[in-house]
Order: sequence, then structure tokens, then C-alpha cells
Amino acid sequence: AQKRYAGLRDLPATSVCGTTIQLYMNAGLMADLPSLASSGAEGVGLFRTELQFLTRTHVPRRGELAALYAHVLDNAQGKPVMFRTLDIGSDKVLPYMKPQDEPNPAMGWRAIRVGLDKRGVLRMQLQALIRAAVGRPLHVMFPFVTEMHEYEEAHRLLMEQIAREQRLGHAMPSDVRVGAMLETPSLAFAPKKFFAMCDFISVGGNDLKQFFFAADRENERVRRRYDSLNTSFIALLEQIVRRCDEAHVPLSFCGEDAGRPIEAVTFAAMGFRRLSMRPASIGPVKHLIRRVDLSALRRVIDDAREAGEPNLRPIVTDWLARQ
Ligand code: PEP
Ligand code: MG
Repeated sequence: AQKRYAGLRDLPATSVCGTTIQLYMNAGLMADLPSLASSGAEGVGLFRTELQFLTRTHVPRRGELAALYAHVLDNAQGKPVMFRTLDIGSDKVLPYMKPQDEPNPAMGWRAIRVGLDKRGVLRMQLQALIRAAVGRPLHVMFPFVTEMHEYEEAHRLLMEQIAREQRLGHAMPSDVRVGAMLETPSLAFAPKKFFAMCDFISVGGNDLKQFFFAADRENERVRRRYDSLNTSFIALLEQIVRRCDEAHVPLSFCGEDAGRPIEAVTFAAMGFRRLSMRPASIGPVKHLIRRVDLSALRRVIDDAREAGEPNLRPIVTDWLARQ
């Protein structure tokens, strides 16, 4: 299948109506890096840093992490890499972390909540990222932000580390961009100031969907019960696009659904201009985007929502079949 799309690798994902969608890849292992060139991805839209923490028996040292992140940036050859800070929770227990006994770990002490309560590890990770980026742009993304003050705190922590590294005489990144993952519905309704503080926002659709539909993403019984083309979810996405457009914040979608062609063209029609997915999905998604008139699709979607359709999947699928 990869061969089938090889001819598209160096072509842009430009729709029939002339809108270009940037296609990025998700990564987390060093083994993922060669795909950056072979898939034609424009960068890494989500680098999951927890994998390096999960595969060790001790907290990695700052120097070790800095070398690793520098290696990622070397391989990216100037393409942007959005490093997501540690996203662990009591479901992804680190071998060296005291297990938490929580009834609902997905809604428990995880990600940025841990980072802000136990700042030592987050500080160390931020220092490693700053040291890795020397002379290159650095993109840092905070996971599982639920309300504005968490982002403010994390942002302040990063700025403090930059000042500290500078004081110590370390070379600086050429540019620092800071963003948040939007993966809880509450963040879509955060004050304007939150959006104004973000250099970019990325929708973590896996978690966003889990919390929007109250359906555990790990539970086989309910996992696939709710569709991201459900018009209620699409209304939430429309709200997110509007909030980001108003604040002029670049927006991407980096959950698994971004790599499914029908979902991808629907999100693009709703206004997402960047999608980040596993490398193997880039070819099929690009192939479909290049065949579709996104503004015509948007009219089809708006009409369906106006008519009270509960789900866009049959409508988008039928329309695509007629193109
Ligand atoms: C998400 O929640 O959609 C996401 C991209 O992050 P993860 O799957 O690592 O939680
Ligand atoms: Mg997530």
C-alpha cells in the first residue's frame, strides 16, 4: 500500500478547491524517525516523550534526554517537531513511580497534573529540550490541559527554565513556540486569554472523544460505540476551530482519527489545516484530500447538520462516492 502512494510523497495535500492541508506524523521512538523522510510528512506534529520514560528502570538523566532529543531534531533536518511533555498517569505507571490507587485513572492524576505537582521531572525535561534545540526552533506542547491556569503555570515554568539556561551560559534555541493539547471538552470553552497565550493548539482526539462521549478509550465494549463524525462531536470541533481562528492560533488534530481518510477530509472541511497521524496514513489521506473539493464538502456537512442529521458518516461517504 505504501508503494501505491509513493508518487504522492513530494506533492502537497492540496484539495480541488485549492486549500492546502499540512500533513504531519506522530512519533515517539527513535525507530519512527526514518519515516519522516519516507512518508513525506512536513514534520512531527506529536512526539510522545513518555515512551523513553516507560522503557527505563529509572528516571532518565537530563544529559541522556538532551542527547536523545537532539538526535530527533538532527533527524528532522529542519522540519518542526512538536515535543509533548511527559504524559503519564496512573494507567501508564512508570516502574519507578509509586503506583496510585485511583478508581478512574484516565480522569485522575496524570500528564500536566503530575508535572505541576512534581515539578522536578518536568523542569528537568524542559531543560533537556532547551539544551537539545541549540540554535534551532523548539516546539513544546503540554498534554491534558483542562483549564487556563494549568497552561499558564506550565508556560511560566518553561520561561523560567529558559532564563536559567541562559544564565548558565547555554546556547539558546533560535525560537521557542509553546502550545497546548486540547483533549478535554472544558478547554474549548476556556477564556480568550488562554487561546491568546498559545502559539499553537493540537486536538488530542483520542482523549477528547473519550471525555466528550464519556466512553473509556481502553474499554472494548464502548470504545467504538461513538463516532467522531457524530454531529455533536463535529459541533465541538467547529467551536474549537472558531476559537482558534478568532485568536489566530494555528490548529492541528493529532488523534488517531486524523489518519482515517473520511475523518481527515471532514476535519479539513471543518477548518483544520494541519493533521498529524501515523506515517502510513499520510499517503491515503493525501490521496483523498487531493480529490476533494473541501468547500463543497463543507456545504454538504452544513446542510446535513441543518437538516438535523445525527451522524455525518453516511452523508460524507455517499458524497465521496459520487465525486
Ligand atoms: C490523543 O489523546 O488524541 C493523543 C494524541 O494523545 P494520546 O493518544 O497519546 O493520549
Ligand atoms: Mg491524549
